Order: sequence, then C-alpha cells, then structure tokens
Amino acid sequence: MIILLLGAPGAGKGTQAKILTEKYDLAHLSTGDVFRYHIKNETEIGKVAKGYIEKGTLVPDEVTCAIVKESLPLYQNRKGIILDGFPRNIVQAKALDAFCKLDCVLNIAVSEDLLLERICGRRVCKDCGASHHIKYLQGKATCQYCNGVLYQRQDDSVETAKERFAVYSQQTKPLIQFYKEKGILHTVDGNKEQDAVLVEIDKILKVLAE
Ligand code: ADP
Ligand code: ZN
Repeated sequence: MIILLLGAPGAGKGTQAKILTEKYDLAHLSTGDVFRYHIKNETEIGKVAKGYIEKGTLVPDEVTCAIVKESLPLYQNRKGIILDGFPRNIVQAKALDAFCKLDCVLNIAVSEDLLLERICGRRVCKDCGASHHIKYLQGKATCQYCNGVLYQRQDDSVETAKERFAVYSQQTKPLIQFYKEKGILHTVDGNKEQDAVLVEIDKILKVLAE
C-alpha cells in the first residue's frame, strides 16, 4: 500500500505520518526531512536545497524527483510507504506515475489561519523530527517521544510560511483535482485535533484494506 499525504504546510502531514507508520508498519518518506538531513550534513544536495528551503520555494524538480526515485526501493522493507511532501506539483506527480503506483491520496484540509498558528508555534525534535506545538509543551523544551532537544525550523517564520502557502496554492493545490480524476483522493478535516483526524484516516484505510 502506497499512501500520499497531501496538504498545506502545517496541515499535520508529518504528525499523522509518524503515527500511521507505527500503527500500520509503514515506511515514511518525507522529502522535507531528506533535505533537512542533507543540509545538516552539508552534502552537495544540501547545498543546492538550502537556498530554496530558506526562501520557502520548491527545490528544483530534477533534484527532488531523482532523490525519490533512487530512495524509494530502500523503503520497501515494511508493509507499505507513506509519501509526505512529494509530489508537490504536477510535474513531480507525473514523474512519480512513471515509477510508482499510488493506492490512496489523503488530503488533509485545514483553514488558513489555523495553518499559520500551527506553523509559527511548531517546534521540531533534532533527533527524531517529530513536531510539537508550544501550546501543548507547557514550557518543556524536549521531545515527548525521545527526549531530544526541540528547535524552531528556520522556514517556520511568518514571512517564509506565507511564501510556502503561496507555493502551495499555486503548485500543490492542483494535485487535488489531479488525484480526484484518478479516483484515489480522500479528504479529511484537518482542522480537528490530531486524534480525531487519525480516526477519519483509520476509517478510510480500513475500507481500502477490505
Ligand atoms: P511543510 O510541508 O511544512 O512545508 P516540508 O518539510 O514538507 O514542510 O518541506 C520543507 C521545504 O522542503 C519546502 O518548503 C521545500 O522547499 C522543500 N521540499 C520538500 N518537499 C519538496 C518537493 N517535493 N519538491 C520541492 N521541494 C520540496
Ligand atoms: Zn524526538
């Protein structure tokens, strides 16, 4: 089973992916996490990606598609794969079609003011990448999963977040229609609390598994 999580920045893709991977024994491929890994380790890919990510724009399609194509086989040791953050435009979606067949697209829909609040309050674990919100941290500075140190992503500033929303509207949103036409799109209400979103996703996956 190959599942794509679609949604604006801050929709909760990473959070749900983390829960789903454990619950359904899936591998998690997040292109954002892959790029952050390369930036941290100062690789060639990291050097290319850094400028785009800091501006809130997309890393060029050739770079991104090549990474996914090369790494996808490494993610086949589990019952399925969750793609998180790829594809992010029509060019990438068509490229993916050529080497991988998606079973299900989960579109997490969230209102815009809530997205900005989530992004600006987000703190990410340096070790496991899990997202937390300051609202629930109550002053704690470590990860609820692994006790790692939390930090604020450089691209989670208001300015950069706004650019990321614009990129989402122009380039990623058309994927909703693209996958609707393929008959594999399922939309969940991502304005709800994370447990309630998970309940909706569970229902969809249960029907698909039947
Ligand atoms: P979010 O979904 O919160 O925006 P991600 O971690 O998925 O965060 O992505 C962070 C940044 O990484 C994006 O703004 C973009 O610059 C880059 N990136 C991630 N996935 C892709 C992709 N599929 N194509 C191009 N750039 C990407
Ligand atoms: Zn952690």
